[in-house]
Amino acid sequence: MNAPTSKHPSYAGDGTAEDVLRWALGAFHPRIAIACSFQHTVLIDLAMKIRPDVRVFSIDTGRLPEETYQCARDIERHFGIRIEWFHPKHDAVEDLMHQNGPFSFRESVASRRQCCAIRKVEPLNRALAELDAWITGVRREQTDTRANAGKIEIDEAHGGIVKINPLADWSYDQIRTYVKEHRLPYNTLFEKGYSSIGCACCTRAVEPGEDPRAGRWWWENPEQKECGLHIRNWSI
Ligand code: SF4
Repeated sequence: MNAPTSKHPSYAGDGTAEDVLRWALGAFHPRIAIACSFQHTVLIDLAMKIRPDVRVFSIDTGRLPEETYQCARDIERHFGIRIEWFHPKHDAVEDLMHQNGPFSFRESVASRRQCCAIRKVEPLNRALAELDAWITGVRREQTDTRANAGKIEIDEAHGGIVKINPLADWSYDQIRTYVKEHRLPYNTLFEKGYSSIGCACCTRAVEPGEDPRAGRWWWENPEQKECGLHIRNWSI
C-alpha cells in the first residue's frame, strides 16, 4: 500500500459519501473534478451541496447514445453547470476507422481494447493530467474487478494522483432511491432496461435478474470487462 505523500493530504477513516467529498474538495479544489459517465447524477448533487463550483468532466467517445447527450444537456440545465468535455484525437479515430472499420471492437478483446484506448483512455489521460485528484462513481458491487475498491485510492495508472470513490459501498437500489427522492435528471435508457451505460454500440439492456454490467460488451467474459478507465489502484 502506498502512503499518502505531502502532495496528497492524508485522510483518516472510511466515512460517508458526504464526508469523503467534503474532505476531497477541501483538499484539492480546483485541481479535482468529477468524472461523469451519465450513469446517474448523485455525485454531482452531493458535491454541489459542498462546493457549488465543483468541476465536472466527461469523455465523448463519439459513439455515445443520443439519450446520454440529452442527459448531459439536462444535467447542465438542472445544476447550472458546464460539463468539461474531452474528445479522442481525430487522427487516431480516422486511422482506426480506415484500417479496421467501424465494428472492429467485436472481433477480439484486443481490438475492443484498442478502440477503448483511442476513444476513452487517451482523452481521460489528458483530462487527468491537469488534476491532482478525480472523483468517480465506481461501486464495489458493479463487477468483480471493482469488488475491493477503496473510497480513497492512489491512482498509480495516472501519475499517482488521488482517486476518490465516495459511492464505493452504495448499492444500485440506493442510487435509484436517491435520484428519485431528489428528482435528479437521469439517463432515460434506464427506463428501457439498461443498468450500465457506455457507448451505444457496446451496451444493451439487461433482463431482470441479470448482472447489472451484463449489458456492457456482452460478448466478452466478465473478467475482461474493463475499458482501461478504472485499473486497480492502491487504497489509502
Ligand atoms: S465502448 Fe465500444 S465503441 Fe466505445 S470506445 Fe470501447 S470499444 Fe469503442
